Amino acid sequence: MGAIVAIVGRPNVGKSTFFNRLIQRREAIVDAVSGVTRDRHYGKTDWNGREFSVIDTGGYVVGSDDIFEKEIDKQVELAIDEADAIIFMVDVESGVTGMDEDVAKLLRRVDKPVFLAINKVDNGQREADAVEFYSLGLGEYYTLSSINGGGTGELLDALVKVL
Ligand code: GDP
Ligand code: MG
Repeated sequence: MGAIVAIVGRPNVGKSTFFNRLIQRREAIVDAVSGVTRDRHYGKTDWNGREFSVIDTGGYVVGSDDIFEKEIDKQVELAIDEADAIIFMVDVESGVTGMDEDVAKLLRRVDKPVFLAINKVDNGQREADAVEFYSLGLGEYYTLSSINGGGTGELLDALVKVL
């Protein structure tokens, strides 16, 4: 059983886009467990010769905002239990949201490496906009464009160092 990295964050920030980029040409395994953990996708990847498994979390229950929030918290807690390192993804297009702040609150208490990944940083202006995420209290961050691959190398270099 190798190292496990979980990608968490609210819907639409680009978790699955990044996950698919990581596991390109490799097989994603859809978790057989249904219910709360449905839509957790597992994949294998490697960086600089270091192999690890990646979990793409999702499968949020739509219905009420309350359940929605709880489901995200559950995914984060599962990730905290299961993973050796966590990528917390946020979206520079929307900026800091209340849901991001809730997830950050859970992650600030975690005793595992947490990588704040600001996605959709497709250009230089967005690089400047990313500074607002310091307010999450998680320290340094990595900027990414999951669509074009920008920033991926820096994040993965740092990630494999802690695995
Ligand atoms: P998830 O719900 O967090 O898994 O998010 P998805 O991966 O499904 O992406 C949500 C939307 O954001 C999709 O329309 C993606 O094409 C878009 N998206 C993902 N990454 C990027 C990015 O780096 N830049 C931009 N501009 N859009 C992105
Ligand atoms: Mg997704």
